Amino acid sequence: MRLTDLNSASDIGANCLLAEIGPFRFLIDAGMHPKKTGSDALPRLNRLPPLDFVILTHCHLDHLGAIPVVLRKQPDVEILCSPASAIIAKRILRNSVSVMTRQRDEAGIKAYPLFTYSELDPVETALRPLPLLAPRTLRAPNGEEITITLYPAGHVAGAVGCLFEYKHRKIIFTGDVLFQDQETVPAAQFPAGQLDTLVMETTHGASPPQEDVTRASETVRLLETINQTITHGGSVLIPAFAFGRMQEILTILNNARRTKALAASPVYCSGLGVDLADYLDMMSRKAGFVNFRRQVLQELKVKPLSQRFVAPGHDLPEKGIYVLSSGMLVENTPAWRIAANLLDHARNALCFVGYCDPDTAGGRLLARKRGDTFSFTGLDHIAHVKAHIERFYFSGHATRGELLAFARQSEPRAIVLTHGDPPARAWFEEELAIEIPSAKITNPVPGTVYQI
Ligand SMILES: [Zn+2]
Ligand SMILES: [Zn+2]
Repeated sequence: MRLTDLNSASDIGANCLLAEIGPFRFLIDAGMHPKKTGSDALPRLNRLPPLDFVILTHCHLDHLGAIPVVLRKQPDVEILCSPASAIIAKRILRNSVSVMTRQRDEAGIKAYPLFTYSELDPVETALRPLPLLAPRTLRAPNGEEITITLYPAGHVAGAVGCLFEYKHRKIIFTGDVLFQDQETVPAAQFPAGQLDTLVMETTHGASPPQEDVTRASETVRLLETINQTITHGGSVLIPAFAFGRMQEILTILNNARRTKALAASPVYCSGLGVDLADYLDMMSRKAGFVNFRRQVLQELKVKPLSQRFVAPGHDLPEKGIYVLSSGMLVENTPAWRIAANLLDHARNALCFVGYCDPDTAGGRLLARKRGDTFSFTGLDHIAHVKAHIERFYFSGHATRGELLAFARQSEPRAIVLTHGDPPARAWFEEELAIEIPSAKITNPVPGTVYQI
């Protein structure tokens, strides 16, 4: 296999791998870099060879966000994905166009939007959902064949890893993977046994193993904090990523309410995550490997967020649990506005349930201690941090120990490291060299062609 990383840097960025196996040329994902702006956020798509197909592993923007640009260049290419991803891809891209359009207007980023609403219909037409765990064989004009099987990857609804079989060689791309069950998505089910090549994510390579931290233990801890806060007359803000995490948190709250493990309190929700609840419901009913029912919102009696603006610094008159889209607490979102009401009051709590980049408002807030100040730009408010701020670990990615174990059991001849910051990749490079000394390990330099 020849492999070229088209991401602009060796990080978790605009995920896009160009793979050439025999006569077959294809991309694994075409994402948009979450920390770059304008056309710098795109992978290097300038000199793409003619593609036979594109594999979309899942619908996070760092994997999906540049697909419309690929289709603009090669309108006839087919996008192979899970049935669940085919349901939600266009909706996520539509949100991306509206976010980019807002950024153009507010921050003057002239290159935005990188594609338009009208370019999303061709994406929908190009999507080819493949049933999971069902091999599909493609034939090249010269008669050679490649067999593709999508495997459930956990991580987020619709996520898959992809196995290619070519001339008795097995090559797997893990995509983003989670080997533990979530409330709404079952754990990855990857093939057992020997593989020729393993192309793996390395997200948590630099994170120390947290053996005692599980989803179950974090759920208990989260419910304890919520219950304590509600019992003492406070409100709780849970900023949550709209796709996946928000529905997971709502399911956790609903399960707790059913078993009377949640203190009585109204639940408020707003943003994209409420809309996406309908999509996850549809993925659940029509695609499989997703367990979410829209019913959860009704059972929890979820209320929309009041549009009546409470001045920043003043506590909310409506006490409750606020589950709001915007995992990293992006400025000028409803979550940002509610945080500006809660932060100055000791009875309240802010619970972060996902990764927050240190450069984001959420990341900066997590670094604050009680008594520090925190500036709400745009709201003309400087808060004195008195509320309880806590981080909970509901990661969508495998621990480094789990990934090592998967690598060990597959005894690959070659391993390629992707989707990780440099320290994360360095850890895997070192550990894999010890654990599987016979394997050839490649940490690809972007833009360089590797013969794997
Ligand atoms: Zn992802
Ligand atoms: Zn990713």
